[in-house]
Amino acid sequence: MDIREVSEKFATDAQCLAYIEQMRWPDGVVRCPQCGTKAPKRVERSTKKKGRNKRDWFYLCSEKTCRNQFSPTSGTLFHDTHLPLIVWFHAVALMLNAKKGLSAAQLRRDLKIGGYKTAWYLNHRIREAMREGSLPQMGGIVEIDETYLGGRQRGHEGKLKNKDLVMGLRQRKGPVRFIKVDDRSAETWRKIIAQNLKATEVEYVMTDESSSAQAVLKRTGKHKMVRHSIGEYVRGIVHTNSVESAFSLLKRGIIGSFHQISIKHLQKYLNEFSYRFNRRNDPQAFIETVRRLAGFPPLTFDALTSEKA
Ligand SMILES: [Zn+2]
Repeated sequence: MDIREVSEKFATDAQCLAYIEQMRWPDGVVRCPQCGTKAPKRVERSTKKKGRNKRDWFYLCSEKTCRNQFSPTSGTLFHDTHLPLIVWFHAVALMLNAKKGLSAAQLRRDLKIGGYKTAWYLNHRIREAMREGSLPQMGGIVEIDETYLGGRQRGHEGKLKNKDLVMGLRQRKGPVRFIKVDDRSAETWRKIIAQNLKATEVEYVMTDESSSAQAVLKRTGKHKMVRHSIGEYVRGIVHTNSVESAFSLLKRGIIGSFHQISIKHLQKYLNEFSYRFNRRNDPQAFIETVRRLAGFPPLTFDALTSEKA
């Protein structure tokens, strides 16, 4: 969904809330989060004396010993937020559709959010939701390359500050993964490859002439190398163009939207970029991200298809 579709489907806070309710109780049976009793009473209330962000109704648990008051957002991140749900939903759509990423300052302008701190929090929470847990190992043809974000510092080869060294792995016609690494050593390559590639399912690993890549992959019989040093960039199926194009998007994003990223946050930004990149053609990306934000597990395939129906 793009921002226009999101605006249509979720035009009001009530629609956003109804969506969260449906996600929380997909069978339509509302249950008290405290005791599990079904069918609570819906209580209307005056919003005239409203505190911040109070809704005009709530659920009241019908179990006498419980009497819990709750709403579809109780216990989720949205429960405590000052911002209307609609702002969250729009922010998710904007961040998912900004190929090169979206800074808190830009988000603030786009959504007319009062304070920078609020926009920053929103930006970071959504970024957190874009962290994938454990990912499946890659197979088939995998391209691996490394890059320095912000450009290489010439003349400091020996004592390079490696804070912005990133390794990119891309399964051809498949997902990309960016990993912040400390150095370009064979040991680092070995570790990254062991964690992210499934040896029995890998057909080829494509790299440039990195000596570490050669050291680690030489004896696997699956290593194909493109020789940039002799001006070679493609030799039949041998190239690293797919991972390099993902790198170039990442770099343009980092330069354009985020002038400086602290080391502490770099991996989070990398996760955001790969999360978005890997879902660029996935119509469920918006819903998946909202679910993650609300603390619900991603939909199963069955639930997905029934939702589409
Ligand atoms: Zn209860």
